[in-house]
Amino acid sequence: MAKQFDYDVVIVGLGPAGSSLAYQLRKSGLRIAGVDLVDINGIWGKPCGDAIGEHHFHETGMPLPSGEALANNVEGIDLYSPSEEVRLRVKGKGFMINRNAYGRMLVSEAEKAGVDIYLETYVRNPVLEDGKLVGVKAVRGDEEILFKAKVIVDATGTSGVLRRRLPKEWPVNEPLKPVDMNIAYRRIVKLEEEIEDPNYIRIYVNQEIAPGGYWWLFPKSSSVANIGLGVQGGRGYPHPKKIYDEILMKRRDVGSQVEVYADAGAAVPTRRPANTLVWDNFVGIGDNGYTVNPVHGGGMGYAMNAAYHASKAIIEAFQANDFTRYGPLWKLNLGYMRGIGAKQASLDIFRIYLQELSNEEIEWGLKNGIMKAEDAYDTSVTGELKANFSVLDKVKTLFKLLGRPSMLQELVTVSRYMKKAKELYLNYPETPGRLEDWIERVEALYREYKGKLGITW
Ligand SMILES: Cc1cc2nc3c(=O)[nH]c(=O)nc-3n(C[C@H](O)[C@H](O)[C@H](O)COP(=O)(O)OP(=O)(O)OC[C@H]3O[C@@H](n4cnc5c(N)ncnc54)[C@H](O)[C@@H]3O)c2cc1C
Repeated sequence: MAKQFDYDVVIVGLGPAGSSLAYQLRKSGLRIAGVDLVDINGIWGKPCGDAIGEHHFHETGMPLPSGEALANNVEGIDLYSPSEEVRLRVKGKGFMINRNAYGRMLVSEAEKAGVDIYLETYVRNPVLEDGKLVGVKAVRGDEEILFKAKVIVDATGTSGVLRRRLPKEWPVNEPLKPVDMNIAYRRIVKLEEEIEDPNYIRIYVNQEIAPGGYWWLFPKSSSVANIGLGVQGGRGYPHPKKIYDEILMKRRDVGSQVEVYADAGAAVPTRRPANTLVWDNFVGIGDNGYTVNPVHGGGMGYAMNAAYHASKAIIEAFQANDFTRYGPLWKLNLGYMRGIGAKQASLDIFRIYLQELSNEEIEWGLKNGIMKAEDAYDTSVTGELKANFSVLDKVKTLFKLLGRPSMLQELVTVSRYMKKAKELYLNYPETPGRLEDWIERVEALYREYKGKLGITW
């Protein structure tokens, strides 16, 4: 016989999404369980680049990383062209964090405030009674546990342990196509030589090294760095670990590793947000809700943002005693999709185009000032393509010389569809009754866009 625990809210997964939600809800007076399969030293254990923008903390009221959780202050990003001859310096404050220390602090604050934490507890599946989601089944050691709750939260990351086991006809159960994810791998290492400018994290765009992604060197101090790469899934590209060993390790700046502290890889979704983060008695946030930035793959801050909106929607749902999609839970969708989601959908359109460019085209675009540092920053903040269109007009002949006269037209198309995608998400349906129609419009927009660019994946 399984033990049964009754709660108001059960949060499955205590990574950036789940532990932020537990933290946000800790003083709500609700009875909350936070469940994760790892032990306390495995909290926030997913491999990551460890970089996060400061604005996320201000936007969500989450505590700034400090003490053991703060590894390094970031002043900006240096973006390198494929030849590395062009460097765009994009200023913007952020942090290199020690994920486990930050996650442990959140979990401990939540626990102190009364949230029940169940670690080393593996959640197997959602439990439905008469078609209604009522709980989850879990195992801890030899013990079977049934967690029952009015709101069940899937914060299990890309695997979406609950989402993917919900009835197929629920729109939250939306598959993730391999081409819409990056397979990433990173090592945290001590380097032999001092790192130059350790307060600037470095991104290297190079389709031959990291096809459909990029490789990075993010300093955690003047001698320790997180170095890794991501490649687009589903296209038959080599595994990033193989590329790391065979190509990156041959570089002096990467290869002079005197100690390896951590070494692992994982998949990260790089697409527009899931069609819905909410259904009856269900909330799904973080990587399983595809809340990652499609262009740079950063997901911690957006998981925190989704958790912030989720906490407000959940509190209102309890005030209204309505846990259906027709009640206040829907406000999570409205808050997230019409804010961050609109920007991410637009950046997804950009991402699809970027993944098709050759090194030569990227080099040329960066060299000729088609995208400047401030434009790159603006595009990532607003989700609108801030390319230098006046330059584009002047360099028509150069486009011809490059053998890509169509590139100019493509950029105009990309910019137009970025706006359209953003518009659709800004008009995210007020009620679930209009969701189906909205999904059809989004899918039609993406089909049309890919058709225009001749993309078949
Ligand atoms: C190599 C790499 C580099 C990255 N770099 C960055 C970066 O620099 N900056 C950034 O912001 N983002 C980065 N990301 C993305 C970021 O790591 C994720 O977006 C973020 O961790 C998502 O948080 P999450 O809480 O949704 O999921 P996760 O971090 O995956 O947490 C999910 C939790 O659920 C638990 N869980 C899973 N299944 C079960 C189960 N059955 N039962 C109980 N518990 C379960 C897991 O143990 C885990 O604790 C990177 C990703 C990768 C792979």
